[in-house]
Amino acid sequence: MCAIFGIAGQQEASNLTYLGLHALQHRGQEGSGIVSTDGKLPFVHKERGLVADIFTATNIAKLEGHSAIGHNRYSTAGGNTSENLQPVMMKSSLGWVGIAHNGNLVNANVLTQKLEREGSIFQSTADTEVILHLMAKSQEKDLINAIVHALKQVVGAYSLLILNHDYLVAIRDPQGIRPLVMGNLHGKPVFASESTAFDLIGANYEREINPGEMVVVSLKENFTVKCFRPFEKGALKRCVFEHVYFARPDSVVFSSTIYQTRKNLGKQLAKEHPPLDAELVIPVPDSGVYAAIGYSEFSKLPFEMGIIRSHYIGRTFIEPKQSIRDFGVKLKLNPIADIVRGKSIVVVDDSLVRGTTSKKLIQHLRNSGASKIHLRISAPPTAHSCFYGIDTPNKTELLASSHSVDSIRDFIGADSLGYLSLNGLLQVASEVSGAGFCHGCFSGEYPTPITTIV
Ligand code: 5GP
Ligand code: MG
Repeated sequence: MCAIFGIAGQQEASNLTYLGLHALQHRGQEGSGIVSTDGKLPFVHKERGLVADIFTATNIAKLEGHSAIGHNRYSTAGGNTSENLQPVMMKSSLGWVGIAHNGNLVNANVLTQKLEREGSIFQSTADTEVILHLMAKSQEKDLINAIVHALKQVVGAYSLLILNHDYLVAIRDPQGIRPLVMGNLHGKPVFASESTAFDLIGANYEREINPGEMVVVSLKENFTVKCFRPFEKGALKRCVFEHVYFARPDSVVFSSTIYQTRKNLGKQLAKEHPPLDAELVIPVPDSGVYAAIGYSEFSKLPFEMGIIRSHYIGRTFIEPKQSIRDFGVKLKLNPIADIVRGKSIVVVDDSLVRGTTSKKLIQHLRNSGASKIHLRISAPPTAHSCFYGIDTPNKTELLASSHSVDSIRDFIGADSLGYLSLNGLLQVASEVSGAGFCHGCFSGEYPTPITTIV
């Protein structure tokens, strides 16, 4: 998963982009980049690491101009190397172009092989570069036509921000798999993966970019905005995992506030999997907190923050090696013995992926004296890979791909385990956002054919 942010017509465009990326840090922590322009030249800074560490006053000052796009990277396609940091830059007969991409193309390998046979030389292993090569080869003189030409050939998930000396362009794929929202700051357009970025910079949220829509901001015509629908309408397939886990709870995504959705998921979970003999509801912080509030409200059991999270380490999931992940759980989550001792508890988390967090956490809770542990997950079993931008491409690593609910319960050592049903999840998500979701990671039903295994 990644984050994108873009802004046009502001004196401090790069500073505001830095802040926007900071608010979207949860969507990617491997590296970030900003490209800005004064309407003539591009100014670029990209580095591995966290937003607050990468962008100093000195290097932001070098990112001149009134318009900028930025990206936080969370590697899915391509490895975690500096070449794969975004925005990806290109120079061709179109002039310079920068592109920031959230999502994953599922025919990137096929297109890359074809382009390489025809002489293209790739600088990175990321799928995003394919779009630039297709644009460069399009023979179109105009950036907008080149983008449309390129995107008609790609399949998969893409929310994109593209910048050159004339335009800032925002695009969402025809199925709307990844989010992208639009707002305004002092009447000038601003774009972000999630609305929380607007809150920070004082911009007003306006609306989602529609699936298949292209919003073009003209840098040379006082930042006026024009909207196009150049792509055929596809069936709406927004990623339901944004509701479950990915988006920040204070964000409006797919037209609804994530906090409310997660609370409702918790209520539905309590309906489907009651607490049995439990006396307390305890979330796995931070991601499980909102569903746990809903679970506690519905089940009328007291809510306690019985597990404390250290905020001084990154998300354990992102660490690539299993050995580091195991250690990370201990570093990150600590039960409060006084709260759980002698108690039968419901522990609520948003998802169970590899099972590392839950297994270790349950051991810690037992060591702290909990008498019974009923684990409740506010999503269905994650049994299938995501090819559209979530970092779970290897099916064998997903516990639920090869284990039944009973054997997962035994593996993690819980007294009972209950997952939200797929129907329950889709019902809650549709109540707030309308119907039309991708649930491939839970059902194995994907929104497009997949010709590339990333
Ligand atoms: P597990 O220990 O089962 O592998 O991971 C479960 C935990 O990882 C849950 O607490 C959930 O919030 C979190 N999680 C689920 N999906 C993702 C993801 O794509 N990225 C990150 N960083 N964490 C995730
Ligand atoms: Mg979590």
